[in-house]
Amino acid sequence: SSRSAPLRARAEIDLAALRANVRALRARAPRAALMAVVKSDAYGHGMVPCARAALAAGATWLGTATPHEALALRAAGVESRIMCWLWTPGGPWREGIEADLDMSVSGMWALEEVTAAAKAAGRPARVQLKADTGLGRNGCQPADWPELVAAARTAEDDGLVQVTGLWSHFACADEPGHPSIAAQLAVFRDMVDHAEKAGIEPEVRHMANSPATLTIPESHFDLVRTGIAMYGISPAPELGTPADFGLCPVMTLAASVALVKHVPGGHGVSYGHHYVTDGETTLGLIPVGYADGIPRHASGRGPVLVAGEWRRVAGRVAMDQFVVDLGGATVPEGTEAVLFGPGDRGEPTAEDWAQAADTIAYEIVTRIGTRVPRVYL
Ligand code: PLP
Repeated sequence: SSRSAPLRARAEIDLAALRANVRALRARAPRAALMAVVKSDAYGHGMVPCARAALAAGATWLGTATPHEALALRAAGVESRIMCWLWTPGGPWREGIEADLDMSVSGMWALEEVTAAAKAAGRPARVQLKADTGLGRNGCQPADWPELVAAARTAEDDGLVQVTGLWSHFACADEPGHPSIAAQLAVFRDMVDHAEKAGIEPEVRHMANSPATLTIPESHFDLVRTGIAMYGISPAPELGTPADFGLCPVMTLAASVALVKHVPGGHGVSYGHHYVTDGETTLGLIPVGYADGIPRHASGRGPVLVAGEWRRVAGRVAMDQFVVDLGGATVPEGTEAVLFGPGDRGEPTAEDWAQAADTIAYEIVTRIGTRVPRVYL
């Protein structure tokens, strides 16, 4: 590529595209604040650079799963509001209070730990109460909500917590018209109403992930939490393409063809010989494998653009490498092979790899391994 020095492989991260995606998402939810979800190393795109780019484009909150991710953002000097939601007993509550994190609480055990930490720290904790309105995963069940709300109110009166948010998460926001969407919205409104009647005055109420931000305006409330769409990937291909939503994929994964060779027909390729050449041909070695996050399940299927042609993984994806059949074409070693990108230069997309591996594009980008350098454009 003319854009960077040759490397075994690289994940180019187009931060201008990320910024444009954030602006497009803000335009979809003009009355809501935007939380940039940067957990899991920003879905594989690099947490700190993506966080900074999102904030520069108008995001005012960052969201992570673990408190360690949130603390790493603070350690990098990020000063925006940061919320983290996946706590386990014995978690770093005190560090979170001292780092001004907004910490999600889904149950009594967490409220007890955070109030104890606030007592020790001598200052109140910012807490967001999470309601399970129907996802059936994290969050407080409606039946347990009154107890959690009452305990949080008491902790507020004791100066130990400040409830900054009430929030929930959808199960089926990517399936327009799914009956659970309206049901979850109704439960959420009831749970918010109960908490507010009990004296909670949240700064933000929020439910929307990317598909809800794009397709369910009544779910926007005070804030939307966008992950996948910010990285320019459609939350579900059935909803539309990235371009339909004015989004552009941020990651391009490219590798340098490591070896090209002529082989006769009947030549078995890669472990298990699941691919056998049907005539004389050329094979190209692509030096990335499942250790780099290339799904082994895409063996025989994953598409790669080499010298203007789509080629398929021939045989199995190995730990560090796989082979493509170049169909007799000879290309010089060092030729760029593009596994996926925005698609506007003829290359496959992360969605194409998701289809080849029977998964979702979220998993394709998120699993690109740390051995692949991120190159920021
Ligand atoms: N909110 C929560 C609680 C999440 O776990 C996630 C990611 O799964 C998101 C928001 C962002 O979802 P999406 O990437 O679909 O925007």
